[in-house]
Amino acid sequence: MELTARATRNAPLPNALGLAARATDSILIDRLDTLAQITPELADHPRVILGSGTNVVLHAPIKATALINGLKGKSITPTGELTCASGELWHELVMWSLDQGFSGLENLALIPGTVGAAPVQNIGAYGVELKDLLVRLAAWDFHQAQLVSFTRDQCQFAYRDSIFKQASVQGPWNKPRYFITEITCQLSVSSEATLNTRYADLGEAIKSYPQPITAQDVAQAVICLRQKKLPDPQQIGNVGSFFKNPIISRLQAKHLKLLHPDLPQYDLTDSKEDLCKIPAAWLIERCGFKGARRGDAGVHDGHALVIVNHGDANGREILALAQEIQQTVVGKFGVFLEPEPIFMPAI
Ligand SMILES: Cc1cc2nc3c(=O)[nH]c(=O)nc-3n(C[C@H](O)[C@H](O)[C@H](O)COP(=O)(O)OP(=O)(O)OC[C@H]3O[C@@H](n4cnc5c(N)ncnc54)[C@H](O)[C@@H]3O)c2cc1C
Repeated sequence: MELTARATRNAPLPNALGLAARATDSILIDRLDTLAQITPELADHPRVILGSGTNVVLHAPIKATALINGLKGKSITPTGELTCASGELWHELVMWSLDQGFSGLENLALIPGTVGAAPVQNIGAYGVELKDLLVRLAAWDFHQAQLVSFTRDQCQFAYRDSIFKQASVQGPWNKPRYFITEITCQLSVSSEATLNTRYADLGEAIKSYPQPITAQDVAQAVICLRQKKLPDPQQIGNVGSFFKNPIISRLQAKHLKLLHPDLPQYDLTDSKEDLCKIPAAWLIERCGFKGARRGDAGVHDGHALVIVNHGDANGREILALAQEIQQTVVGKFGVFLEPEPIFMPAI
């Protein structure tokens, strides 16, 4: 069988949490026609799509073929239309676009992972989300066996969400319908750009840079801030933020504020409903989890939102700690923490 001929058996899988994860087999997708060739065999065959594994919790053996994204190539027009294959690394793309004299991606510097995973959860940092720049994307549709195109609106981007995270569109965790192959973003010519330094820490950090501030300066400031705050997965296994910041009604927020006057709250200005966002890290820290350890599974001592693998934690231990945090936060604040990474297998 073609699939068998191409696949590596019992393949170890890349994952930033450092779990000893394996799939039944894996295939490197480094050409578009590989997708076309394997599609008939994958029709009813369990499969998963992986980029760099920086936003997945591979907590048990994956009884599926892992499609590892290795699609490469990027280009930019003189007017700033950037097109990039989905297997490129996101941070390298950000730095390359700045070197070419274009701005827009600087606030998203140093986010690990591949370009193709960026639309899946609409990556965001320091007041910017991918949806602010993405114009369209291309994806291989395993159902129709052809390339299809999605506009920004069709992706239905929201906070750490898109249609590619929704089972109603993308299917179950082990039968994803769309493999994102390419994204297109509209950037600005750097000399004419308006920089976004409104985000609190960034605004402060950028003050020490000589005027006029450039997009490259913003990227450097973001990199320094991120390196100070977030543990490097190469040193200690983690997937960045383990939980989304909860979005709750303003009424519930008001009630919580009476009980906990120092709870930070951020109004969602673009929300039609009466909603606001509260920081999951604050809730977790208040429950005493910062720096906590359950065997080799732990909560980072510098950032309560980051669950870490101190060495030999297995998937079960990571899940048990995540559930303990969720239950404690619900018990104390009545707020449910929704995980940000994708669990494979789904739970
Ligand atoms: C230290 C650290 C900091 C982080 N900081 C941020 C941050 O500031 N903001 C933020 O938003 N995220 C952040 N993340 C999360 C992560 O970097 C992003 O979600 C990133 O886009 C994941 O890329 P990946 O290639 O590793 O995806 P993977 O983990 O390999 O996959 C994630 C999901 O996307 C799916 N997927 C991957 N590629 C494709 C494709 N081509 N087509 C269809 N589906 C696909 C996978 O099936 C899986 O469901 C951070 C992670 C770490 C470890």
